[in-house]
Amino acid sequence: MYPEQFEYQRPSSVSEAIGLLTANPDAKIIAGGHSLLPAMKMRLAAPAALVDIARIPELKGISASGDGATIGAGATYRELMDDAALAAAYPVVAETCDKVGDPAVRSRGTLGGSLAHVDPAADLTAVMLALGASVTATGPNGARTIGIDDLFVGLLTTTLEPDEIITSISLPASSAGTKQAYEKHSHPASGYAVAGVAVALQVDGTTCTSARIGVTGAPEYAMRATAAEDALVGKELTAETIAAAAEKATEGLGELNGDVYASAEYRAHLVKVLTRRALTRAAL
Ligand SMILES: Cc1cc2nc3c(=O)[nH]c(=O)nc-3n(C[C@H](O)[C@H](O)[C@H](O)COP(=O)(O)OP(=O)(O)OC[C@H]3O[C@@H](n4cnc5c(N)ncnc54)[C@H](O)[C@@H]3O)c2cc1C
Repeated sequence: MYPEQFEYQRPSSVSEAIGLLTANPDAKIIAGGHSLLPAMKMRLAAPAALVDIARIPELKGISASGDGATIGAGATYRELMDDAALAAAYPVVAETCDKVGDPAVRSRGTLGGSLAHVDPAADLTAVMLALGASVTATGPNGARTIGIDDLFVGLLTTTLEPDEIITSISLPASSAGTKQAYEKHSHPASGYAVAGVAVALQVDGTTCTSARIGVTGAPEYAMRATAAEDALVGKELTAETIAAAAEKATEGLGELNGDVYASAEYRAHLVKVLTRRALTRAAL
């Protein structure tokens, strides 16, 4: 299907892009276009204008070290995979990007687009929850920081204002070098996550001192598995502790998604299995 008619605008700076969004409430940002264009073709979205931010230099660039990382919102999955410093400090990012879609999706899709879109089956939403990321959102009134725990609030819904652009994503020093892993059950047709679980653990000796677990695919939108996190902190990381924590991974996630491919019950099972696998691979 063809999308509705729309205007196409290509600003060269963030401030110009914000001006275009403010001037036209029916305009929408397009970055990689790999979520928005399919929605437009299915007539689920019909913006009057597309403001293309893909070539804005301010939105590019990745700087990473053991002291944290700052990633331009326009960084593609491919660019995230290819950054050696990011991979050294936050290996779960590249590991996850490698499991996203196909080469075309990875070459065009962006981190900012994935976080702004909050597809319930996206991968990096769960990873950013596990790593404790924050986003910088820039709008007509300037820039503000939104912690990842406060960004996702519903199906395809964030706390961003319509004329705000995610300009960068920051990863804290506290999650650099943590024990990290992402486990995913991919949909056989689309590659999207039927369920996916990202973990980041801080360990002192063999004792878990901090745990963050992000779950995607199964809940309405990516959420933290806080009951499982609580079951780990202060405990020795053994196979038994991990199994007990994984059993709690669906607590607090609300009603789980179900469809012809995977029922809510099956997704609940997957979340527990994937949590156990991710924790085991990260910790043992
Ligand atoms: C065949 C196929 C397979 C896929 N498989 C997977 C998969 O396995 N895992 C996965 O996670 N994803 C998958 N995707 C989705 C893909 O990763 C998308 O590219 C991504 O979710 C959105 O990023 P984008 O840059 O393409 O955003 P766009 O499609 O350009 O935009 C998406 C939404 O975000 C908004 N937006 C974009 N950038 C910003 C910004 N900087 N600030 C504020 N708002 C912004 C747009 O206005 C729009 O509403 C797949 C897509 C396709 C087509």
